[in-house]
Amino acid sequence: MDFTELKKNLERNGFQVSVFEDACSAAAYLNSAIDGMTVGMGGSVTIQQMGLYKMLASHNSVFSNADTPGKTREEISREAQTAEIYLSSVNGISVSGELINIDGTGNRVSAVQYGHKKVYLIAGCNKVEKDFETALYRARNVAGPLNAKRLNRKTPCAVKGDRCYDCDSPDRICRGLSVLWKKPGGCEYEVVLINEDLGY
Ligand code: SF4
Repeated sequence: MDFTELKKNLERNGFQVSVFEDACSAAAYLNSAIDGMTVGMGGSVTIQQMGLYKMLASHNSVFSNADTPGKTREEISREAQTAEIYLSSVNGISVSGELINIDGTGNRVSAVQYGHKKVYLIAGCNKVEKDFETALYRARNVAGPLNAKRLNRKTPCAVKGDRCYDCDSPDRICRGLSVLWKKPGGCEYEVVLINEDLGY
């Protein structure tokens, strides 16, 4: 995928942008850029596929719901919320330069908006859509159902992972929405674009 237009629009929206051909080079870059810091991360398949927890935990204090041993999810989430660095993937990103995340607990949608020194938003090329509406559609109808299926949720979308049914299930994972139209003022942001399919 050619990221030229997307990169230009993200930069116009105030985001720093780096582009990599594969997950391995992006992970090596992040591993060299983040050193001696406290680092929070949510439950992202992209981050898991990149092997970032193991890499970063050898020289940073990393708080990850999916990986950090010896603490409750609540403790990890609270420490991740106040970490200097936060790493998240995105559920959808538009070529026009908007970044979209949907969340069940609220930790990810709040963490990408405020509270850190720097936020890295990591996106494989499968997350890219042409405009805001199609990126939002993707977040709701592709990322949501596939994540519900992965997490074995009792939701209508998890049966086939085909589309969102806007369910009222107690197991619903879509409860909050974050849209970054422009870089928020509270911290630094870097969008890491990777020319590989990653996550959902
Ligand atoms: S709102 Fe419900 S049906 Fe729609 S994607 Fe989320 S969990 Fe699935």
